[in-house]
Formats: sequence, C-alpha cells, structure tokens
Amino acid sequence: MDNLRDLYQEVIIDHSQNPRNFHACAHANHVKEGHNPLCGDKITVYVTEKNGIIEDVCFKGEGCAISMASASLMSEVLKGKTVVEFQKLFAEFTQAVTGKNASNKLGKLAVLAGVAEFPMRVKCATLVWHTVNAALHNEKNSITTE
Ligand code: ZN
Repeated sequence: MDNLRDLYQEVIIDHSQNPRNFHACAHANHVKEGHNPLCGDKITVYVTEKNGIIEDVCFKGEGCAISMASASLMSEVLKGKTVVEFQKLFAEFTQAVTGKNASNKLGKLAVLAGVAEFPMRVKCATLVWHTVNAALHNEKNSITTE
C-alpha cells in the first residue's frame, strides 16, 4: 500500500510539474474559467466537442499541485469520450475524492482518490471537472467552487 501511495504521489507530482495539454486551444467550441477561492486555483478550460463527443481538452491557469495534476490527468482521459461518459466519470470521480465510493472505473484518475483524506483539497481536485461541466453546458458566468 505504501508503495502504491508513493507511485500515486509521483504521478501527481509529474502531472503538476509537466501538465499535459497545458495551452489555450483556438479550435475549442466551449471555453470556461473556473476559480477555487479557497486555495486560489484558477483554470480556464478549452473543450472541443462535436456531436456529443469530446475531441480535445486543453487548459491554462495556475494553482496548486492537486488542481494542476487533476486538470492534466483529466485532459488526457476525456479525449474521445462522449459527453454522457463524461457525466458518469464526473460523478464517479467526485464520489472517489470525497471518500463516498472507491470506484474501480477511474483508471489513471485513481491516483487522486487519496485526496479524500484531505477535505480541504477536494475542491482543488474537482475544480476542473466542474469547469468542464459548465463549459459543456455553455453556462455564461465563470464558475466558482464556492
Ligand atoms: Zn488548490
């Protein structure tokens, strides 16, 4: 278990220091800014969605290691998924990081499940998910976790 924890930590550090898909995306058709005032995380997501399929996810912004790693991992995982699959994954991920349900369907996102032990960091992990969700629904106002 300790080894697994170390591995998870390594993955989180790697993704926070070298975030994947970390850039604005000109062809995105859903753009949204999200803010977690509790920690100071600010993320703008760029989602390219066609006929209910998420073709591309990019993001920009700044925040703590958890928020950056969460956004980076998510940007990799969501490519090619349908919006319906996103909704399911969003629900499963939220349950996992709040400690309500240890999902085995999270794949590489499971490295963030340890956040459940740190309630202050849950919003850091879920910020980018709430932001993509709002982006897909074309909500007008920028979103906040508060
Ligand atoms: Zn944070």
